[in-house]
Amino acid sequence: MHSKEVTRCEEILEDLAVSGALALAVVAGPAPLAQAVGEGPNYDGNGQVTTSKLATYDQMVSFLKDQDAKQQAMELEVIGQTVKGRDLHLVKYISDPDNPTILYLTQQHGNEQLTTEGALEFVKHLGTGKSGDILSGVNILIVPMLNADGAMGDVNFPLDDYVAKGDRNLTRYNAEGVDLNRDHVAKVQPETQALHNNVMRKYDIDYMIDLHHQGTRSERDGELVSGSILYPTTPNADPAVVERSKQLGAVVFDNVDSTGWGHLGKYQGGSAETISRNGIAVEYGISTLLFEMRGMSDHYLDGYALGLRSNGYLIKQTVTTLTSTAAAIADGSIADADTSFWDGLAEQTSRPGGEADDE
Ligand SMILES: [Zn+2]
Repeated sequence: MHSKEVTRCEEILEDLAVSGALALAVVAGPAPLAQAVGEGPNYDGNGQVTTSKLATYDQMVSFLKDQDAKQQAMELEVIGQTVKGRDLHLVKYISDPDNPTILYLTQQHGNEQLTTEGALEFVKHLGTGKSGDILSGVNILIVPMLNADGAMGDVNFPLDDYVAKGDRNLTRYNAEGVDLNRDHVAKVQPETQALHNNVMRKYDIDYMIDLHHQGTRSERDGELVSGSILYPTTPNADPAVVERSKQLGAVVFDNVDSTGWGHLGKYQGGSAETISRNGIAVEYGISTLLFEMRGMSDHYLDGYALGLRSNGYLIKQTVTTLTSTAAAIADGSIADADTSFWDGLAEQTSRPGGEADDE
């Protein structure tokens, strides 16, 4: 049973958390995966896990301000603050309010940073025209590093047992130890409130991709995946919204899985509306896609974190995802995307033996 759970970011890790660093008071006794700690292969088996190459929050903000000054089409807005008072940013490219709009959200979980790195690269490309003239046909919103406190390890609980070496440790949770991707109904945390009050409710958004990282051992058809994707699975989502989510997924699959380095599975996700993929689809009628990329930037469990030698292709996977979806919305081709591939796309599984037998 553990082998499946070990691969999952969106849901199961909250259960892991109570057995690990956080030891939340709400759960009594050891959680099922407690013994996973230390049983897996040494994280060196996933390469050198170091955070020194990752952009800090301050470096990200500096980059965004620099791009804002250079790019006429770009606007940079502060949408709120984290628990620790860090400004949260929205990058906006709105050429025509009547155009369709897509939102890219990264790092709700602070230890999942390469999606943010990819989003920053995408911003740079938009400025240089490397992505072509897509801005005339689509409005693009980007909220990078929503959990900036967790990304900087600036939290009210210890991270002593996290595996990454380098400038800092990164954690899934916000400073209060809350999983932001379980807060999309109650909206208690300031980060979630900033997103909903100043982005979701303020713009007419058609599509959203929520970018994450999962463990390192998920596979499809016998090969480790570079990521996995999923549309809203709550029964309360409008079927038309779900169909457009599947089209969004079709564009991602066609562009990533065909690259040679990309290999995507179907994510096994739950139907809770506290999760953005479900809750935002229901509350706002936005077509959402979850993208879980391989390997986290840091973790307290061996086997979740992935070394920096994989950074390049995972950043590229993010850039490919963002560029291809924006382009497909801009030229309208997303409406022709064939969603039938979903019927044949296998749900990812974990390597036999799970964490103990990874190669
Ligand atoms: Zn995540």
